[in-house]
This record gives sequence, C-alpha cells and structure tokens, in this order.
Amino acid sequence: DEDRSLLDTALADEFDDEETGPAPVLAVVGRPNVGKSTLINRILGRREAVVEDVPGVTRDRVSYPAEWNGRPFTLVDTGGWDIDVRGMASRIADQAEIAVDMADAAIFVVDARTGVTSTDEHVVRMLRRAARPVVLAVNKVDDERGELQAAEFWSLGLGEPHTVSAMHGRGVADLLDTVLEVLPEVSAVDQKLEVGGPRRVALLGRPNVGKSSLLNRLVGSERVLVDNVAGTTRDPVDELVELGGRQWRFVDTAGIRKRARQASGADFYAALRTQTALERAEVAVILLEADQVISEQDVRIVKTAVEAGRAIVLAFNKWDLIDEERRHQLEGEIQRDLAHVAWAPRVNLSAKTGRHADKLVPAMERALESWDTRIPTGRLNAFLGELVAANPHPLRGGKQPRILFGTQASNRPPRFVLFTTGFLDPGYRRFIARRLRETFGFEGTPIDISMRIRE
Ligand code: GDP
Ligand code: GDP
Repeated sequence: DEDRSLLDTALADEFDDEETGPAPVLAVVGRPNVGKSTLINRILGRREAVVEDVPGVTRDRVSYPAEWNGRPFTLVDTGGWDIDVRGMASRIADQAEIAVDMADAAIFVVDARTGVTSTDEHVVRMLRRAARPVVLAVNKVDDERGELQAAEFWSLGLGEPHTVSAMHGRGVADLLDTVLEVLPEVSAVDQKLEVGGPRRVALLGRPNVGKSSLLNRLVGSERVLVDNVAGTTRDPVDELVELGGRQWRFVDTAGIRKRARQASGADFYAALRTQTALERAEVAVILLEADQVISEQDVRIVKTAVEAGRAIVLAFNKWDLIDEERRHQLEGEIQRDLAHVAWAPRVNLSAKTGRHADKLVPAMERALESWDTRIPTGRLNAFLGELVAANPHPLRGGKQPRILFGTQASNRPPRFVLFTTGFLDPGYRRFIARRLRETFGFEGTPIDISMRIRE
C-alpha cells in the first residue's frame, strides 16, 4: 500500500545514497603546551608553524579536513579552547570530554619532558568514561634518548605510549597508522551534512496546506529530478533546484507529490513523511494555512521539527485568501500557539499567486546561517561573565550556583554546555537562552543549553 511504499522509498534512498557518509572525527586532546597544535600542523602537513609560543593565547576550537594513507578524516583541535585553563585539571578534562563526545576517536597527547601529571590522570579518568578509542601520544621525544622516559606513561593504563616528536615529525606516521586502525570508516557522531553542497530542505505541513503547490512554484520548470529516470518504478525522492544563486535539495518530494493523489490515511501518512523528511533535512519550511485556525496538528509538526533540532522557517500560505480581520486573528493565534518558536522567521506568501514566494529563500538562508553559527569560546565567556555579573543566579537556601565557564559544544543547531557549581533554575536557564538570542541572534534555529555540575 501507499505507506509501505513510502517507507521502502525512504529506506532505499538511505542505502543508495551516493555519498560515502561523513568522514570520521578525530579529536586531539591534552593539557595546554604538550604540543597538540604542533602535532595537528604536522598531520595537516603545514610547513610553516602557525603555533603561538605565548601560553594562554586564545585560539578557538577548529576542525580541519585531513587525510592519511588515502583515508579522509576530520581533525578537531582543542588547543586554546578556553580562556585560562592553566592548572585547572577538571576544566581541562571537561573540555577534553566535550571534544571526545563529538569525536569517533581521540589522540591523547602528553609531554615526555614533564612526565605524568595529575591533570593527565584526571583526563584519563574522563577518557575511560567516554568509551571511545584513545591513542596515547607521548610528545617531545625528539631523539632516541627520550624513548626510555616514555615508558612511565604505561602507568596511565591507555595501552602503548606512542612516542613522537610533533616538531620534527618523528613517530607521527606510526601514530597515524595506529589511529586509522581504531577510527571507523564513517563517522558515527552527528556531524554529517558537509558544508558547500546543496542545502537540504524539507517542506512540511498538514495535508492541503499547499506543499505541492509551493514546490511547483519554487521548482517550476528549472526542476531537476534526482533519481528519476522516466519509466522506472522508482519515485523521485529529492529535487535539486537552483534558487537565489545556490543549490537546494528538496528532500522527499515524492512524499509530497504522492500525497496529492492520495485520499485515505492522510494523517498517518503525513506524520510518517514529516519524520523521514526531517531526518534528512537541515532546514524545515513549515507551511500553515493563513485562512485556517492554527491547529493542533500544525503545532505538533512545529514541535517535531524543533525537537529534531532543525532550522525552521514558518510559511503562512494562501495569503491571497485572507482579509484584514483574519490577519489580526492570525496574529493572536501565533502569539498563543507559536510563542515557543517566536525566533523562527515568518513569510506570508501565496503559492497560488506567487506573492512573496521570493522571500522564502532569504529566510531559509538566515535560518541556516544561525543553525551553523559557532560562538567563539572567548566571546561566549565574555558574554556569560557580563550576564552573570549584572544578573547573578538567585540565592537558593543560602547557596548560589555559579557558572564557571561555558562552551559551544556543537552547531547545527547550536548547543551550549555550561559548567556550574550547582543546578541552575529552569527560569534562569531560559533567561540565559533569551539573552543569548538577544546578543547573538540565532534567528530561525533552536538552541540548546545543558549543564555539567562541578562541586
Ligand atoms: P598545545 O597548547 O598543546 O597546542 O601546544 P603547542 O603545539 O602550542 O606546543 C607548545 C610548545 O611545545 C611550543 O613551544 C612547541 O614549539 C613545543 N613543542 C611542540 N611539539 C614539540 C616537540 O615534538 N618537541 C619539542 N622539543 N617541542 C615541542
Ligand atoms: P498539499 O497537500 O500540502 O501538497 O497541498 P496542495 O498543494 O495539494 O494544495 C491543496 C489545495 O490548496 C489545492 O487545491 C491548491 O490549489 C490550494 N492552494 C495551494 N496554495 C494556495 C494558495 O496560496 N492560495 C490559494 N487560494 N489556494 C492554494
């Protein structure tokens, strides 16, 4: 039946995807000054040292595409993730924890010259919990004399210490060979969706809001059917189209077009399609009917998209049908039912007449830009410092939880982690979220704030 064939199409598409999948992510962690950046430059094959000799210089967490023996991977540099972390074992471990959380494997770099430190041991305890493959690199072994010293790092319990000299390149090839043995072919962490390719859009909304009409309007005659060879049984799943000077991939458009021919089971079908389309999309354009009261189903679709962490644009369709009175009503309904997505850009359009259809693409671009945003750690902590100074957390039972520092753990959508000395009230967290939006924008993207409590 219809539902079964949609599932088959969705599954077949997953397996047939011509992309090989996102490259695995390798994080390089360790105390400041052990040589992480030097090692990264070495792996990337950069000639000139871009390493700052000044300790504590704020660099930001960056990731780079890398390759070894023909295998691509993404290198994440945690050097200078923060402000002043010198001597603060737990914060260094926290940062390593976030990096490792987002990675498929890690190189843990230690310094042969200082020997095992208590901070190293702290990081190791964290790495054990993270349950990711870790390769131990003992750096600054510039010649054979250092080899013996490195033996003491067996005590960390991470297996063989691989001696390297990031500076001179010694041992780095062997280290990478070992890393490739533990690194999966395809990343299992949620960092998919490469930059630069067509951006993926899902057109969502309950039956009859005008999805097919809008798709036809946008895609028009420029339509390029992907996966659609005339006469095959396979439905076109995605449509690739150029709008506003860039390519967009409208995902699961077969689901939209098929819907137009189908009468029964519409709700079930719509919910199923919403899920499968969201899984593959970066931005969800959610259509609502301006001439109809906002329904529970509309709100549910919005909620599903927010929970999926996608960028969101609200498109109020059939604008040609409404009068002044309905406009006012609608405004009230939006305030009441869609207050939780007040940050989503709204476009009032008509798929039928084409009114304001041209505003959709800029709105999608704004939402995706917010979705991609990374706030540098230094800026984030300056913001948190000011916010906390002006509005400290209310006292609770004589105690006042403090925010030690924060970092943006990931983007797409932006997720923040705050390290605190106690539980932050939900109200205070909402206040932080509101201020984050006021300061950094984030129009069109959900943001997430979580806490890690340190005593
Ligand atoms: P990070 O803070 O862990 O990223 O460390 P850096 O890469 O900035 O390196 C810290 C210092 O150690 C710099 O002065 C580097 O030149 C030095 N260094 C890095 N690798 C080596 C190495 O293999 N041998 C020696 N002798 N010094 C190194
Ligand atoms: P879908 O089920 O979401 O794909 O909705 P369709 O695109 O099939 O549209 C449902 C009905 O609404 C059709 O009769 C369309 O002609 C009509 N429709 C779609 N967009 C508009 C619009 O902007 N204005 C008006 N007046 N009718 C529209």
